[in-house]
Amino acid sequence: MNLYLFQNDLRIHDHPLLKKAMDQGPVIGLFVFDAIWFKDNQFGFQKKSNHWLSFIYDTLLDLNKQLHTLNIPLLAKKGNFNDIIKTLISDYSIDSIYYEKLPGDEERKRYDFISTLNIPTYHEEMKPLCKSHLLPFSIQNLPFVFTQFRHQIERLYVDFKESEPLVPQSKITIESDIPNLNDLNILQTTHYIKPGESEGLKHLSQYLFSHQLAKTYKDTRNGMLDFNDSTKFSAYLSIGALSVRRIMNEVKKYELNYVKNDSTYWIYFELLWRDYFYFVHKKYDNRIFNQEGLAQYHHTSHNPHYITAWKEGKTGYPLIDANMRQLVQTGYMSNRGRQNVANFFTKFLNQDWRIGAALFEAYLIDYDVSSNTLNWLYNAGLGNDPRENRMFNYITQGERNDKNCKYLDAFLPELKKVPIHLKYKISELLEQERVSYGIQNYPRPIKKVTKS
Ligand SMILES: Cc1cc2nc3c(=O)[nH]c(=O)nc-3n(C[C@H](O)[C@H](O)[C@H](O)COP(=O)(O)OP(=O)(O)OC[C@H]3O[C@@H](n4cnc5c(N)ncnc54)[C@H](O)[C@@H]3O)c2cc1C
Repeated sequence: MNLYLFQNDLRIHDHPLLKKAMDQGPVIGLFVFDAIWFKDNQFGFQKKSNHWLSFIYDTLLDLNKQLHTLNIPLLAKKGNFNDIIKTLISDYSIDSIYYEKLPGDEERKRYDFISTLNIPTYHEEMKPLCKSHLLPFSIQNLPFVFTQFRHQIERLYVDFKESEPLVPQSKITIESDIPNLNDLNILQTTHYIKPGESEGLKHLSQYLFSHQLAKTYKDTRNGMLDFNDSTKFSAYLSIGALSVRRIMNEVKKYELNYVKNDSTYWIYFELLWRDYFYFVHKKYDNRIFNQEGLAQYHHTSHNPHYITAWKEGKTGYPLIDANMRQLVQTGYMSNRGRQNVANFFTKFLNQDWRIGAALFEAYLIDYDVSSNTLNWLYNAGLGNDPRENRMFNYITQGERNDKNCKYLDAFLPELKKVPIHLKYKISELLEQERVSYGIQNYPRPIKKVTKS
């Protein structure tokens, strides 16, 4: 019996490794809810929030439906990864294990354990658009700056070939087994993005063809409030409910049949960032988790008051507070928001980026270890950003990207009475102005911007 270990590849379309496993004989699937996801991390909060867990759970339910059409049973287990694998191997006479080898510390520990079991294992790289062996340089020679990487990749002819569709295997006697939410200690939540491969494929088709949004992506992508401001592919990509090759093939079809412009290109451009950070992670491995990141040194303070205010959306800076509240309430934040709150936390408050990254890991439904860690390092000036000391202006960033303040109204309703032209400037208001707008209870700025 072949065991397929599902990780961030919860789909059946464009799945070359599952195909390989099925070609070799009967397959059962496994997904592990690792016990460590339910425990506190080193910074004192649960490693994975209920938002994320519930999103994954519903994605798995959809995967189970898809696998059922292929006669593949899916087992979902909660507990210690090593114990689960050991038991399964003897219970189901497993003679080979298939899984994608992903970069990451937790992943590495899993793979190291599997390698002690003396069972043949099979792998295939599925995550990036451009697979490692097609790169025009070795991973060790990966350019340090994204633009150089992009230029070299764009010169290549990259075929986004998908794997052939899967054909059902003969029925086997093993039944799927997915515990219920209570057994897993997860609460059902409403999702900002609808989970699962079926929804992902539907969303991709609607985004491109029914709603024709790709042709304006570049103009809208910095918006923070509207669902259609950006593609919302990330949550499907991070758990593999959508394959990145499928996305690009559909974008190409759209370009061929409708419009090809700067905006449609920009979707590809952003997906290249995803590839880039995946390769940077492969190159530097666990070094990316060090406090100094890819730099030589770091200079941070530890201020529990700042950290709590930031986490709770109570810094007194409306742009930051609205974004942090959105993260905790929905499990999503726009790219513009992420850049601002990360910049604020690391460059203005001078706090350890790893705390911010861990909070994002807990809440983001599109959490991806490489993209999250390396975007944090980039924004903290400790990663692949040549412009180390870039500090944002949190007032103009808000005013520019939320012109009528609808985003603030959605997440900071206590500011509704403040006139639009002053909303993002609240951190600069005098006490009597705060009183006149009835916002005495909204926090005063935890730290004042020093004007140069
Ligand atoms: C501090 C910080 C943390 C982040 N953490 C994550 C994370 O954990 N997971 C994640 O997928 N993205 C992360 N990003 C990148 C980016 O913010 C999200 O991919 C994007 O906001 C998701 O929304 P979307 O799918 O609508 O993006 P779109 O703007 O529609 O972009 C299309 C796709 O391109 C990719 N992409 C876009 N921007 C980036 C980027 N800067 N880096 C890598 N890939 C990108 C994503 O796969 C995204 O789905 C982070 C960015 C910052 C600044």
